Amino acid sequence: MDRFAYLLTEAQGLSREVLGGKGFGLVAMHRAGLPVPPAFILSTAACRRFLQEGEVPGLWEEVEAKVAALEGLTGKRFGRGEGGAPPLLVSVRSGAPVSMPGMMDTILNLGLSLEGVGALARATGNPRFAWDAFRRLLAMYGEVVLGERAEVFEERLSALKARRGVRTDAELSAEDLEELALGYLRHLEARGTPFPLDPWAQLRGAVEAVFRSWQNPRARTYRRIYGIPEDLGTAVVVQAMVFGNLGEDSGTGVGFTRNPATGEKGLYGEYLRNAQGEDVVAGVRTPEPLERLLDYAPGLYREIEAIAQLLERHFRDMQDFEFTVERGRLYLLQTRSGKRTAQAAVRIAVEMAEEGLITREEAVLRVEANALPGLLRPAVDRERAPKPFLQGLPASPGAAFGHAVFSNEAAERYAAQGLPAVLVRPETTPEDITGMYLAKGILTARGGLTSHAAVVARGLGVPAVVGAEALRVYPEEGRAVAEGVEIREGDLLTLDGGTGAVYLGAVPLVEAQGEALLAKLLAWAEPHRRLGVRANADTPLDASRARAFGAEGIGLCRTEHMFFAEERLPWVRRLILAATEEEEEAALSALFAFQKEDFKAILRAMDGLPVTVRLLDPPLHEFLPPWEELKAKAEAGDEEAQALLERAQALREQNPMLGFRGVRLLLLRPSILRMQLRALLEAAQELRQEGLDPRPEVMVPLVADPKEVERARALAEELFRVYGPIPFGTMIETPRAALLAGEIAPLVDFFSFGTNDLTQMAFGLSRDDAGKFLPRYVEEGLFPFDPTERLDEKGVGRLLRLAVEEGRRANPRLKVGLCGEHGGEARSVALVAPLLDYTSASPYRVLTARLAAAQAGLKEGVAAG
Ligand code: PEP
Ligand code: MG
Repeated sequence: MDRFAYLLTEAQGLSREVLGGKGFGLVAMHRAGLPVPPAFILSTAACRRFLQEGEVPGLWEEVEAKVAALEGLTGKRFGRGEGGAPPLLVSVRSGAPVSMPGMMDTILNLGLSLEGVGALARATGNPRFAWDAFRRLLAMYGEVVLGERAEVFEERLSALKARRGVRTDAELSAEDLEELALGYLRHLEARGTPFPLDPWAQLRGAVEAVFRSWQNPRARTYRRIYGIPEDLGTAVVVQAMVFGNLGEDSGTGVGFTRNPATGEKGLYGEYLRNAQGEDVVAGVRTPEPLERLLDYAPGLYREIEAIAQLLERHFRDMQDFEFTVERGRLYLLQTRSGKRTAQAAVRIAVEMAEEGLITREEAVLRVEANALPGLLRPAVDRERAPKPFLQGLPASPGAAFGHAVFSNEAAERYAAQGLPAVLVRPETTPEDITGMYLAKGILTARGGLTSHAAVVARGLGVPAVVGAEALRVYPEEGRAVAEGVEIREGDLLTLDGGTGAVYLGAVPLVEAQGEALLAKLLAWAEPHRRLGVRANADTPLDASRARAFGAEGIGLCRTEHMFFAEERLPWVRRLILAATEEEEEAALSALFAFQKEDFKAILRAMDGLPVTVRLLDPPLHEFLPPWEELKAKAEAGDEEAQALLERAQALREQNPMLGFRGVRLLLLRPSILRMQLRALLEAAQELRQEGLDPRPEVMVPLVADPKEVERARALAEELFRVYGPIPFGTMIETPRAALLAGEIAPLVDFFSFGTNDLTQMAFGLSRDDAGKFLPRYVEEGLFPFDPTERLDEKGVGRLLRLAVEEGRRANPRLKVGLCGEHGGEARSVALVAPLLDYTSASPYRVLTARLAAAQAGLKEGVAAG
């Protein structure tokens, strides 16, 4: 017979996969001698079985035996007061192997019946507390198990407060709460979903509901965003209740062993007197900083501090723990590795290594490489910014700017139009995860630094300000009011998640400052990195920024971006229209001058490092004004517009990403190739005369056949004979080029994989409008992730591997790099690190690429030194 239930004492040695993170932490804390209320755990196997078969053989017999054990440990009877003792009540909480904060369900105070309320009132001498516990149970159970909307309970509570003329729950009397609870009972009855007054029926309903909550939409969304496997299942923790709302010597809190926003060492957290845990996490009331305990309960503070240190030494990581104080006695309810900002992650990893708690290699592996750009997020320029119009708590650093939205739907609408949005909510709940994910910033009126909004924003790396108490938010009406100002959907806001300041409109921002700790971490990482890291950069500014981030050259300089500048576009258009050689020559020589200056500036910024310049890639019609605009002008008698319109008609393509572009255009209009290459070679020549060391390389895009490369190279050689040769390469970005890599390789010095196009063509999707269906595909589980963001190992990866192998075999001196967007995505970098010579990433993501490559090296066993 399989076994599914374990007391804390029976679960020693079982893994996190079996016990879930919460259960695993409780077992460890119990073992370390910390005060943990008695509990048992139903394993993730029970959940999986339940979801597959609808029942779990033998589970309820096991549960009955474990409840009996809890009765023995607490000296109370489940659901019944005996001998003046209060009844044993339990919490039923989800706990997956991977932390998914707030995504699944929890029920507290379980086991109460009408008779139990009486016993609890007598035992505590506090009828108000007893009825309060009961009405909370009814609301939670009503929502989670019986499927009633949470607002129904909220509305009744608000209505009662209005009738009594009071503002807070605390002002309601025992009789008020009794009336409220009985009203809830009648409501659930009338709705056809009566509340089970039998404690055992409650327990069974709650456990099954928690199992089922693994499949709820917000949990699925969360798993999709974080790439958590669907088949893990959740464990369920059933634990004897302790109460933080038994008076002023009771309370509940959350502690961090280090500051989750900054990483600073030392106890950090929040405490809410005379309250139950859900009040803190839900952000309904704003708690006080933990240090306030030093004023009125210093002994308790010291106890919590000692426990924090013990937890950290035991788990060798920053811990986020929940505790409750029941009449002066401290109980630990949960511990887990704390979510943290990128900034805190780096600081904690480095400092823990310096303290000798972890090794340097562990420190390098601990930081999520994809999160590094967040470290370098711009911040509000405080010198130049106006006075903030609103102040909240700094929950997740970085400045965010966008249009105010008040719902998931609105956030989706703005995202679909490519517009930045700031999500504004009274507080957030797991229901809001979609909007939080899509928003550039999050602003809430209520809640502390450990509220749902703060925790999730930090995890997502989205700047956030929470607890802006002056703000009143009316989501249904799509508006908010603060300091006499009304904010409506679409209004622009800027928020500074590092200070908690909120501004109306746009305010000046400053680039983030380079981080000394990050430099240290990267210095530890670098010796393990074998893969080279270059940058995708088309401007001198990007080039120098990338160089400062440690780029070892430019892997992709897209020359078309130089054509789009305002003063240049007319010349590009003249080139397109040129009817005679003279006209073409005039346009080309103007463009030549621009390009040469651009190349000089970029080569100068990258002096001594390779710069791979890609010759013109996009189709010419991209340089024309929008169709409608041209048409209107032409109709108004504008002759140039008329000519452009006719030309545009001829150039028009249904799918511009697969057409007369790249090497095809360069071969059929070789004057463009010659102009660009000569500009590059002359730029380098002039810099060399200045005593610099420019290292240009040139590559052609969109090749599909060796003949194209041969012809392009012959054209290049004409100029190499005049100026001296430079490395000549090709992009591998069509599937055919990958398949013919063995024939192409002998003709070039290097390959650079354009995985943007390669992905697009391998999947047969258009990268410009795949947004119409790719997110749905991922949501529906058809694709595990978006392949335009993260490299598809199976298909695109296979083409890439094949091309590398055959290319190197045919040309052992071949250098191989990658310059698609994937070049700066940590998991993709890890995938290609053993295969390629270098990757090339956008400037901010150079850091991600460096760290991810070092982490891959560590895992491959690339030794330091
Ligand atoms: C690519 O296709 O991966 C690439 C780097 O080129 P672009 O994105 O400019 O098409
Ligand atoms: Mg491309």
